[in-house]
Amino acid sequence: MKIPDRLKIGGMEYLVAECRELTSKGKRLSGMADHECGLISINRDETCYEHRCVTLLHEALHALANQADIDTSSKKAERLITVLAYGLYQLLMDNGRRLFDIGPEYNPEDVAIRNEEDDEAL
Ligand SMILES: [Zn+2]
Repeated sequence: MKIPDRLKIGGMEYLVAECRELTSKGKRLSGMADHECGLISINRDETCYEHRCVTLLHEALHALANQADIDTSSKKAERLITVLAYGLYQLLMDNGRRLFDIGPEYNPEDVAIRNEEDDEAL
């Protein structure tokens, strides 16, 4: 999975910034979404890339909830967002090729062969 500079969420363009020392009220954060500014910040100091990917999905889920006017400020809602982010990350990583023709198993030659087969079927 890539961490892009921009991400379209629910039709809205969000900038994605990786930064250091991301804190709020003295507490260290993995990520943060500013829905009014359209900005998702990811803490670059996270120890592994995969965790930063999960954090991006986590903040994207907050953005989707915010757009639907769903309050995710409670501990229970935060836990649900976290579970969904980890689950979504695993689902996409395990099935990227099946879903989008991308992912760890992606081979561009497979797509070229399939396109040729499609052309022959026409
Ligand atoms: Zn959260």
